[in-house]
Amino acid sequence: MSSFQGKSVLVLGGSRGIGAAIVRRFAAEGAVVTFTYGQSGQAAHELAAATGSKAVMTDSADRDAVIAQVRASGPLNILVVNAGIGIFGDALDQDPDAIDRLFRINVHAPYHAAVEAARQMPEGGRIIVIGSVNGDRMPVAGMASYALSKSALQGLARGLARDFGPRGITINVVQPGPIDTDANPADGPMKDLMHSFMAIKRFGRPEEVAGMVAWLAGPEAGFVTGAMHTIDGAFGA
Ligand code: NDP
Repeated sequence: MSSFQGKSVLVLGGSRGIGAAIVRRFAAEGAVVTFTYGQSGQAAHELAAATGSKAVMTDSADRDAVIAQVRASGPLNILVVNAGIGIFGDALDQDPDAIDRLFRINVHAPYHAAVEAARQMPEGGRIIVIGSVNGDRMPVAGMASYALSKSALQGLARGLARDFGPRGITINVVQPGPIDTDANPADGPMKDLMHSFMAIKRFGRPEEVAGMVAWLAGPEAGFVTGAMHTIDGAFGA
């Protein structure tokens, strides 16, 4: 496969899980891939070595570091913002600083990264943000901050699609349902509850999400922008 041959790709949050699958997919198709990581330096460097990509430590909670990394990555053909965290538990007990950090990672970083990328992005550029089906549907308690952050990405995509569309740059949100990663293991305690909401009663694979990202980044998706693309086994249906 080589449909992204020579394309310049930056994945924010690529060391593990869905982000790592996205890195592998673009690298396998010939792209020149840089990805960021936060805590998982060893996994990041192993992935970089295995895929011929470049790993750089950039904390997505640090706005200026994110902007600087996007700028340093030069003109990008494709930006994928995948880094995201969840904080679960009673809203009345949660540390407000931790909640604000979640908003910096899940909302502020995608906004600032997308805007910075667009400064240098050529015609045909693609911006893809990993949201969540929880942006549409939140069927359990204790995840309001996460749901808020993922809903916010919908407005981000709708708005920036208007700003960048005239330049031939698209922006879309991919909204996974339960995907088997460290953050949400398929054999974890939430398994039966998750399955109860779904028509296809299994967790998705990171590679399935990467496939949707690759399609949105590719030549067939040039007329697709400002839109949410859910991949969730009908969790949100
Ligand atoms: P994981 O926890 O398995 O991986 C998260 C990735 O994001 C890691 O590479 C991590 O890097 C990176 N990351 C997190 N915080 C930061 C930070 N502050 N700075 C830099 N990188 C960071 O999560 P998933 O793969 O499951 O999730 C990826 C995305 O998909 C998230 O946005 C999540 O909300 C979304 N999603 C996931 C679902 C699921 O069921 N798995 C469902 C719906 C949406 P490092 O370890 O190096 O810090």
